[in-house]
Amino acid sequence: MKGWVAVTRFVIASANPDKVAEIEAILGAANVELVPRPEWVPEVTEDGATLAANARLKAAAICAATGEPAIADDTGLEVDALGGAPGVYSARYAGPDATYADNVALLLRELADAALEGCSSRTARFRTVALARFPDGREIMAEGVVEGQIATEPRGNGGFGYDPVFIPREGDGRTFAEMTPAEKHELSHRGRAFRALAAALAAPDTR
Ligand code: IMP
Repeated sequence: MKGWVAVTRFVIASANPDKVAEIEAILGAANVELVPRPEWVPEVTEDGATLAANARLKAAAICAATGEPAIADDTGLEVDALGGAPGVYSARYAGPDATYADNVALLLRELADAALEGCSSRTARFRTVALARFPDGREIMAEGVVEGQIATEPRGNGGFGYDPVFIPREGDGRTFAEMTPAEKHELSHRGRAFRALAAALAAPDTR
């Protein structure tokens, strides 16, 4: 085979064990093998203006350091009543050292303030950009989106990040944190983005 269709082994750019576990579960089913990022590769500063720019920064850094194909992703939660915030700033919404709980608490406070000002919408979406990059600079990018709404208080112990307050529209009223990992991946932004990426990687190389 020629081109990138022959490649099934990638270094995963993320060092976040929550995300790596999810991505392994999704891509493992598509026969894509992921190897952990070497500890000696420094973390990149995610200062891109878009999710795609951040995913590219992370994947390009791994490619350059290891000489191997790399996979990276970036996710944002877009809340309509907050003009799309926290968006690309989702990880550090409540500050540079914010915990998941800090970010969720700030989100609920901001939505309560918006409601006091007359905007009671709680609609939101998660968006993930997944990107495979090759040492010669070629790349394949895929996006996954899940629509939903923000709960009024956290529910559930599964998942991570904003999962306890995100209720997917196509679900049964439970938050992502109340679902099993398989139930979440079926609907989730990351599940959709990585399944699309796996399909693109498996597609016949027409270039
Ligand atoms: P990242 O840039 O992809 O690491 O995601 C940025 C932030 O979005 C994370 O720190 C989490 O707070 C949040 N996030 C990303 N993916 C998810 C998810 O699947 N569920 C809930 N929160 C998430």
